[in-house]
Amino acid sequence: MTITENLDKILGQIPSSVRLIAVTKKKSVAAIKEAYDYGIRDFAESRIQEALLKQEQLQEYQDICWHFIGHVQTNKAKKVLENFHWIHSVDSLKLAEYLDKLASKTSISPHICLQVKLLTDPNKYGWDMIELWQDLSHLESLKHLKIKGLMTILPLGLSEDECLETFDKVKKLAKKITEKSSLQLEELSMGMSNDYLLAVEKGATMIRLGTIIFGERN
Ligand SMILES: *Cc1c(COP(=O)(O)O)cnc(C)c1O
Repeated sequence: MTITENLDKILGQIPSSVRLIAVTKKKSVAAIKEAYDYGIRDFAESRIQEALLKQEQLQEYQDICWHFIGHVQTNKAKKVLENFHWIHSVDSLKLAEYLDKLASKTSISPHICLQVKLLTDPNKYGWDMIELWQDLSHLESLKHLKIKGLMTILPLGLSEDECLETFDKVKKLAKKITEKSSLQLEELSMGMSNDYLLAVEKGATMIRLGTIIFGERN
C-alpha cells in the first residue's frame, strides 16, 4: 500500500471533523512531501534535532502546521516553542511554567495539550488525575500558554474495552476541568495507529498516526 492509499483508507473511516496528524519521526522528507501533496497539513515530530533538519528542507511548505509530541527537555524547550505551532506533550507543571516564561519573553503563544496518564505506565510521562487537579490553579495562571486540551498515550497490550474505558476517562476529565476551571479543554489528542478508531469513537479531536500511514519505523 502506498501513502496515498493508506490516507484514503483512514480518511474514509473517520469524520472530517477529526484532525489527522501525520507522525513522521524517523521518516523521510520525501514521505512528508507525499502526504503533503495528498493534502495533509498537520505533521508531528518527537525529536527536536531531527525535526529541525526536516523543517529546513521544507521551508517552502509554509502552510504546514507542526506538532511536537515528544518529551520536552528544558534545554530544548525554546527550540520547540520557536518551531512548533502545537506542543501536545506538556507533561508537568514545571515544564508548563517554563514554557510560559519563555512565551512571555518571545511573544509566541503556543497551543498546548496537557499530557495525562490515567493508567500506570512506567514508560510514559504525564499527570495522573489527582496531580492534575492539584496543579490546576497554577496552570490556569499561565497566561502566555493557550492550553487547549488533553493528550494521552495508552500503555501497550490493553484490550479494546480497556482502551475505550481509558479514552472515555480522558474525555470526561477534560469536560470536568472545563466546567470547574477557566481552562477550555476542547481538544482530545488521543489515538495512534493501533487504537485510533476506538479513540475517535470516544471523541478524539486529533489523532496522531505514523505506522499506519508510512509503514513500520526502523
Ligand atoms: C510515535 C508516536 C505516535 C505514532 O505512533 P504510531 O503507532 O506509529 O501511529 C503517536 N503519538 C506519539 C506521542 C508518538 O510518539
